[in-house]
Amino acid sequence: MVANRSVVVVGAGITGVVAAVFLSKSGHRVTLLEKGEIGGAVSGASLACITAHMIDLDEIELLRWSCQTWKDFAQDSPVDIEFDLCGQIRFIEREEELSAAIRYVDSERECGLDSSIVDGDQLSQIEPNLTSDIVAATFDPDSATVNPFLAIRAFILQARSLGVDIRQHSPVDEVKVQNGRVVGVVSKGEMIRCDCVILASGPWTAELTRECDIDLPIFPRKAQCLATVAVPPKTIRRVISSCEASSGVEAGYTQIQQSFNSQVLFNTVLAGGLSQSGAQDSISEVDPDFVVDSIAQLLHLFPCLDGVQLLRSWVRYEAVAPDQRFLLGPLELDGLFIAAGDAGTGFLRAPAVGQLLSDMVSESEPFLRYDLYEPYRFTIKPRLE
Ligand SMILES: Cc1cc2nc3c(=O)[nH]c(=O)nc-3n(C[C@H](O)[C@H](O)[C@H](O)COP(=O)(O)OP(=O)(O)OC[C@H]3O[C@@H](n4cnc5c(N)ncnc54)[C@H](O)[C@@H]3O)c2cc1C
Repeated sequence: MVANRSVVVVGAGITGVVAAVFLSKSGHRVTLLEKGEIGGAVSGASLACITAHMIDLDEIELLRWSCQTWKDFAQDSPVDIEFDLCGQIRFIEREEELSAAIRYVDSERECGLDSSIVDGDQLSQIEPNLTSDIVAATFDPDSATVNPFLAIRAFILQARSLGVDIRQHSPVDEVKVQNGRVVGVVSKGEMIRCDCVILASGPWTAELTRECDIDLPIFPRKAQCLATVAVPPKTIRRVISSCEASSGVEAGYTQIQQSFNSQVLFNTVLAGGLSQSGAQDSISEVDPDFVVDSIAQLLHLFPCLDGVQLLRSWVRYEAVAPDQRFLLGPLELDGLFIAAGDAGTGFLRAPAVGQLLSDMVSESEPFLRYDLYEPYRFTIKPRLE
């Protein structure tokens, strides 16, 4: 195992911040560079649901490890990150979706998850205000949420106490390469020498790799969110999501939950929804149609919310790879690593990604398989001079 490497992590979203902590714990000297504010891009705008339910059966070991690590972290952290083991419901609105959901839940149970299918009567016990006419739902008691700002803050404090050099408003403008290996980065005209560079730069990552003549398929995808004014606590008790087993993210995806301060949060990813590279830099507002459709769906599921006022809305661009999985691992240049393309589940996966990055930089046996995340799985490896 190699220790004491100097590592620059590019991007202080949840991926970069958690990676900085794991790398530092493994004995590496870490500098964390953020072009804006810590957590100010996608991560601070997240609904931060931590769950292994209906994400990806092939990744279930990694997802469960991440969920447990979040739980342990919440318990041990001196910062209250508002970890709420609230459980999750995925509603099924069409009869023909039910059999796929039953099969999916059976497979999850074989993998050790505690998910199940519940009928309308059971649902009225679990989520009393969800009174729309749905066919059935899945229920996972182990899904949780955290407050994204507090979670990032907790990891940042830990990083600081471990000696990580954290710099905001410090864009990485160039990755410096000599003889096929990374030797440092340039930020605000300063050359920061290092052995390794980790690109945890979300939807901006493809721009940075392109500078190194490496073309990777990471696209920005628009995620839109609404928040209402505070409503009575426990109006919505669980994370409420649409059922992906049959429809999939590509068919659009909905997530509704009530925050600790009692606002109702509503997030939708539209069908398809991939944007041109660079869209993440546009100042974007939610689509008027999205607002109308979201309110209609919210009131359809929770008629008791009729008359509640909207407070705010926001748009962010998530980094998405074609198969919705991270690109994670070493790139063609020695010392260059990538961790991006999370497709809307980056909060959940951040601990496992951080641990795997640390294993890679330390050249130790990876604690879990990560071939699913091989960065060049969509492309032929570029030939570099
Ligand atoms: C509305 C919404 C709801 C969501 N809900 C969930 C959920 O329930 N569960 C879940 O797990 N995930 C959820 N997600 C997704 C999750 O938030 C993201 O996957 C995660 O935050 C991505 O984190 P990241 O650190 O990889 O990227 P980011 O947060 O985008 O961080 C990348 C950072 O890199 C910085 N950067 C870029 N280029 C440079 C450069 N050249 N130099 C220096 N810094 C640079 C950026 O400024 C940015 O701060 C949601 C996302 C949204 C928008």
